[in-house]
Amino acid sequence: MKRFKLTTLCMLSMGMGQWAFAETERSTLPKFQAKDIPTQCDAKIADVKTKLAEFAKVKLKNNAPAGAVLAKWDQIFAEFEDFYGPINLASNVDPSADLRKAAEDCEVKISQFQTEVYQDGKLYQQIKKTKASDEIDRKYRQDILDGFEDTGVQLPAEKQARLKVILDELTKIQQEYARNIRDNPEKLEFTPAELKGLPESYIANLKKNEKGNYLLGFDYPEYRPFMELADSDDARKRYQIAYTRRGTEKNLVLLKQAIDLRHELAQLFGKASYADWALKNRMAKNPETVNKFLNEVHSTVAPLEKKEVQTLREFKAKTLNIPVEKAEINRWSEGYWSEKLRQEKYKIDQEKMREYFPTQASQDWLFAISSNLYGIEFKPAKVDVWQDEVEYYDVTDRKTGQLLGGLYIDKFPREGKYGHAAVWGVKGGSTLTQRKPISALVTNFNRKGLNSDELETFVHEFGHALHGILSNTRYASQSGTSVERDFVEAPSQMYEEWARRKETLSTLADYCKPVCPRVDDELIGKLKAVKNYGRGLFYSRQTLYAQYDMALHTADALKTQPLDVWKKLENQTALGYVPTTEFPGQFGHIMGGYQVGYYGYMWSEVMALDMLSAFGDNLNNPEVGARYRKAILSQGGQKKAEQLVVDFLGREPDNKAFFQEITGQRD
Ligand SMILES: [Zn+2]
Repeated sequence: MKRFKLTTLCMLSMGMGQWAFAETERSTLPKFQAKDIPTQCDAKIADVKTKLAEFAKVKLKNNAPAGAVLAKWDQIFAEFEDFYGPINLASNVDPSADLRKAAEDCEVKISQFQTEVYQDGKLYQQIKKTKASDEIDRKYRQDILDGFEDTGVQLPAEKQARLKVILDELTKIQQEYARNIRDNPEKLEFTPAELKGLPESYIANLKKNEKGNYLLGFDYPEYRPFMELADSDDARKRYQIAYTRRGTEKNLVLLKQAIDLRHELAQLFGKASYADWALKNRMAKNPETVNKFLNEVHSTVAPLEKKEVQTLREFKAKTLNIPVEKAEINRWSEGYWSEKLRQEKYKIDQEKMREYFPTQASQDWLFAISSNLYGIEFKPAKVDVWQDEVEYYDVTDRKTGQLLGGLYIDKFPREGKYGHAAVWGVKGGSTLTQRKPISALVTNFNRKGLNSDELETFVHEFGHALHGILSNTRYASQSGTSVERDFVEAPSQMYEEWARRKETLSTLADYCKPVCPRVDDELIGKLKAVKNYGRGLFYSRQTLYAQYDMALHTADALKTQPLDVWKKLENQTALGYVPTTEFPGQFGHIMGGYQVGYYGYMWSEVMALDMLSAFGDNLNNPEVGARYRKAILSQGGQKKAEQLVVDFLGREPDNKAFFQEITGQRD
């Protein structure tokens, strides 16, 4: 899922660092008070402004050595990040709605200010005058210049002004869209009969009204199990439709506004489409390459999807003793019948899996396998946190004992909290200033235990957190996850494999208190079969999302109606479009920084599976782990992603493992 929120389009080139003192001690996140945020926000921006004014005044000759100038630039933004990093996190996770709102208002100001900075020709010229003397400086210098150029520093004044309006507007639209989903208070009422099929433990946690009916909202832990287990087809249908409409119709309007504004933005730069503009600094480079990749995936998985739906229909017909022609599979019943088939064919009950993967034991296990692989340690410490259940850990290097960074973990759902799983790279690290990175891992897990999907999610997000914390870059701006957006998922996707293989999973039971069943060969085989079974449906869905994202950002964007495009594309899939659903109103990715980026999940996976091959048959090999830590994780965005992969693998990346994966043929 999303690892951080980009409040502006140029956030990637903004960074962190510190003034001259060295940070060898733990640094933690500040606690905010809602009422103080507006003043703090203004003061911080004013402070950065002053420093930048000084920066602009420094007399530089042409070809001035870049090192000192870049270091200064990085420091200024590191100090800024000390404030906006935590603000960005707070706006998503703080328990107080007032504080979240105050933080969001501040984000708007920050984003406006960032645009101002990156449209400032004097600052641009200062960087432009420098000459880099090594690859790291050359890359960082170019990243900063790209940030300026993408914010229109070279455009004529009136276009520049228009661009600023567009960027400000996009930030507000993006926030409103997210808020409409997150703060939707709607609860659906279900009778006890409609909950048949769901386990006692699930029902016990639900709210009831005076009529004795249950009230369900849109949090994952409530929605997901319902769609897989509730026997009532009508109830699932009602819930599914409401779920896709949870962004409300307002969000369809906001999405259209965003698409139009992005198109206009691209045109200011003389680009035919927003996709052309957005892809120029990614691994994929242009829409043609992305579309070609997606078409290839589509033609590979579409027949598989059809076959899987047919299997589900036959299974349903047999179970209900009805003719196959009458056994329909719909969006709201696909999850249910898949789960039933899983239970029958593979004897895997996802709810039962929670006994194998208790939440706390899963975390302790994850710490242990990561410690072994990368030679690190996690040490809990008591620090100020935004909510009582949030945990904090120092992450240290086992060999040197040195503090590497800090990890916050916020695991359980609560009202108003960000509803998915994500990692915020709150602070980046820098070897120049000994600045230590901080990551915050946010999930919405069941308290007792995880099913196998959730365990994968945990490991995936942990991969993002480690990418941040094990970063060892010269500049904070290039720390950890500051890589190309179509590579950023790769380390996390690769790490998911650690939640699938026996050599890693079988040790999880060592961390259970009290005892829990141990994962054995039989279960591993079943989990694998289950995973392979759903490949067609899963990758078709991913391809649909990615193609939809691309379809919204073509040269014809102004004529495009988001819901119409969605209906058309979803209708071409095996399960079709469900009337009255409004998926685009709650497709957070394309409004939250992953626009023209959804393909990146599969693009990254190509890299992830290729890199995974270096581990061979032993995922617990600390030698490969050390090599990977050095070549990939520690490098952040200091090098281009393609170079990182070549450095690690010793050859050009290829997509063989990925195509084996999506067709269920990977060993
Ligand atoms: Zn992710």
